[in-house]
Amino acid sequence: MSKVKKSQEVDYDIVIAGAGIAGMAAAASAAESAEKIGEKISILVIDRADEKNYGGLSRWTGAFFQLENDFSISPMLEKEFIEFSKGKVDLKLLKTFLGNARETIEWLKEKGVEFETNIMDKTPYIAWRYNFIHPKLGGFGILSALESTARRLGVNFAFETTALKLMLSEDGSINGLFVRVKDGSLIKLRTSAVILTTGGCEGDLGKLAQYLGANAYLLGMYSPGEYYNKGEGIRMVEEIGGKLAGQFGLIHVGVGDARSNAVMPVVNIFPYGILVNKRGKRFIDEGADYLPDHSNTVGLAILQQPDNLAYVICDQKINSIPNWKRAILSDHPPIICNTIEEISRIIGCSFSDLKKTIDDYNSSIKEGEFNPYRLDGKGTSGLEPPKSNWALPLDTPPFIVYPVRAILSHTCFGVAIDERCRVLNSDDKPINGLYAAGEIIGMEYFRYVMATSVFRACVFGKIAGKEAVNYVLNKLGEKGKN
Ligand SMILES: Cc1cc2nc3c(=O)[nH]c(=O)nc-3n(C[C@H](O)[C@H](O)[C@H](O)COP(=O)(O)OP(=O)(O)OC[C@H]3O[C@@H](n4cnc5c(N)ncnc54)[C@H](O)[C@@H]3O)c2cc1C
Repeated sequence: MSKVKKSQEVDYDIVIAGAGIAGMAAAASAAESAEKIGEKISILVIDRADEKNYGGLSRWTGAFFQLENDFSISPMLEKEFIEFSKGKVDLKLLKTFLGNARETIEWLKEKGVEFETNIMDKTPYIAWRYNFIHPKLGGFGILSALESTARRLGVNFAFETTALKLMLSEDGSINGLFVRVKDGSLIKLRTSAVILTTGGCEGDLGKLAQYLGANAYLLGMYSPGEYYNKGEGIRMVEEIGGKLAGQFGLIHVGVGDARSNAVMPVVNIFPYGILVNKRGKRFIDEGADYLPDHSNTVGLAILQQPDNLAYVICDQKINSIPNWKRAILSDHPPIICNTIEEISRIIGCSFSDLKKTIDDYNSSIKEGEFNPYRLDGKGTSGLEPPKSNWALPLDTPPFIVYPVRAILSHTCFGVAIDERCRVLNSDDKPINGLYAAGEIIGMEYFRYVMATSVFRACVFGKIAGKEAVNYVLNKLGEKGKN
């Protein structure tokens, strides 16, 4: 089935809203759980996108997992969740995530997902401190493998169907979901359990502007998938008195070519040059830390600059870094300038301001050995803001210039769940029949922990599917007794 039509029977035991990795993991896991128990459970996955475009961000992501090459959990992971969130992370949820990580990877492998290890020298980062692995074919590989399992086990799909409103029975449990179908009409899906996997708020810039200011409207996007995630899942939970979690307004961004709408058009060479805003002024320590973490910090700083715009300026010395072009995924070539005056014309700033910025930077660089692969301590002295590492003078034209802006990967806030993926109400009690997984879960505060989003979608999607089946079977059992 590809569409929910008015004339159709619209009773399902479980409805899953959102066909990204979290939704597909929930669907595959629910169908598998029902099969194992030998029970027939009807499951419907809906998605607002059409059959060619569903899958949200999951369709486009390279899907790095922060894991060691032997699939063990990176020793830094737990520490970073706690430290980055200043202790605000829900420790029970974190334990559930980390405790189920290994088993979930094996489950994905069983479904045919092939992981590639030892990949760091193929990533767009020259210097890094995390180890990532990723599935062949990226997020799409996981999406397809889980979808095949779900379809094989009889899960139904309805595209161009948008979840709008949760329905509750008098005892406070879920009994339905209102959806809007392609022709604009509304349909009530009667169901005992809803799993919300509708992703974040990337497609609702008005919402983001409430937290981030008007420049949110000028954010670039990592992919076309962001358009579909308009935060309805979070709003629906709020409407029925559900609890929200995660830091509202926290987003994960990168530094992308301002001219490009390609997928993730990052320009990760800024640690080896300088960044100036439209006025020709530096505004951040370009070399404070390793990427990709630091590209998030830098992206957020660019978002605070006039028009969400900045310029990376490097010179010919960048050629001393073999494969530096690997750090650029933009589909636009650099702007080549022979003089600082030419750069100032490109930027549209005063020549004297830009020259002063570059002269001040060049004259503040400390002695020391340049090493592009580790924090080399070759920084500036007496410069504000400082550059802490990788400082080489800009004196060898032609200069390499990229206009860059903050590009949005995903939002990091949403609804509160317990360890069984049950959505909580504002009194911290589970709302019977309501589950959530993936990016819609709010788990982070102050700073995103790198390469954990897809991983979490898989772990919590799998748990949510199994829990929803147990809930439905208990409910059917109760009915049988009455
Ligand atoms: C280019 C790119 C690179 C990334 N790189 C990484 C990485 O390396 N590692 C990592 O961990 N994360 C990465 N991310 C983030 C990661 O991809 C996402 O956080 C993750 O895929 C989210 O999965 P999800 O299933 O929760 O949501 P999504 O995959 O976004 O799926 C949500 C689905 O819900 C549907 N939907 C939304 N609203 C409704 C509604 N009201 N009714 C019905 N359907 C609805 C959407 O159409 C979509 O299909 C990246 C993201 C992008 C775009």
